[in-house]
Amino acid sequence: MRMTIMFTRHARNRAGNCSRTFFAVLCLLAASSLASAQEEAVRRPDRVVPTKPFQIIGNVYYVGQTNNAIPGSDDASFLITTRDGHILLDTSEEEMLPQLRANIEKLGFKLADIKYLIHSHSHSDHVAGDADFKKMVPGLKLVASALDAEVIESGGKADFDTSRAQFKPAKVDRIIKDGEKLELGGVSMVARVTAGHTKGCTTWTTVVEDAGRKLNAVFVCSARISEGMNLVNNPRYPAIAADFRKTFATLKELPVDVFFASHAFFFNMVGKAKMLESKPKQNPFIDPQGFKDFVTLNEKNFLTEYQKQGGK
Ligand SMILES: [Zn+2]
Repeated sequence: MRMTIMFTRHARNRAGNCSRTFFAVLCLLAASSLASAQEEAVRRPDRVVPTKPFQIIGNVYYVGQTNNAIPGSDDASFLITTRDGHILLDTSEEEMLPQLRANIEKLGFKLADIKYLIHSHSHSDHVAGDADFKKMVPGLKLVASALDAEVIESGGKADFDTSRAQFKPAKVDRIIKDGEKLELGGVSMVARVTAGHTKGCTTWTTVVEDAGRKLNAVFVCSARISEGMNLVNNPRYPAIAADFRKTFATLKELPVDVFFASHAFFFNMVGKAKMLESKPKQNPFIDPQGFKDFVTLNEKNFLTEYQKQGGK
């Protein structure tokens, strides 16, 4: 277990009590300002608190963090199940692995049935557990985009942002390209490289079934400008601004019914989970407007910061 103090660039979940789309923009604005203020939140072992895993919709289960109390403790992990085994999206930190395992098993699934480990992006709060998780699940294949694979295999050293926390390197077994499909047991996960937050930031799309309907689901990597991110003349990432622009264009074109992302507060996971418990007529994670609001807010934040840094 990691006992040293590290830092995270993701902020605490304060959007958790926000309700449906009516308040979505306000919630996102509040969450975003808190995210900036708490950009360098202290990461501590006691951030690991029991969280309740649950079936979100169709074959998608939430097995990640929902800890509102401690900054940086809302790293999302999703289990996507199929008849021929399962796909795990993001392990999060090493210290979360016992809980991740318990969450998966509580839902009645076996670790040994997980065939693929995919990820949102190569920051420690999403991939630091990968190396140890691979040891826990022999035969598991780690899949990543080429540019995030470099960072994962270097344990974070290859990140263009040198202030990022480092982690145990993990071997990537398969490189996935933009638009390529990962197929398993009749389920197809499509990778879309939406770079900027990291060079290989990967958004995944799939189709889920709910109440007899087929719905387009998206798992957004991230489109956030981290604090101190150099968007103009960045020697370690000259294409950063162009990549962010391309990412917003890509996200706007995606057909989205069901909205997920790499941190719980990005998609009001806690609030929607509470709503789901009351068995509403429609699953609250069906939220195309929430997705649009997320993209709009992040694009606005990008443009504001880009111009502030003298970008044209
Ligand atoms: Zn990140």
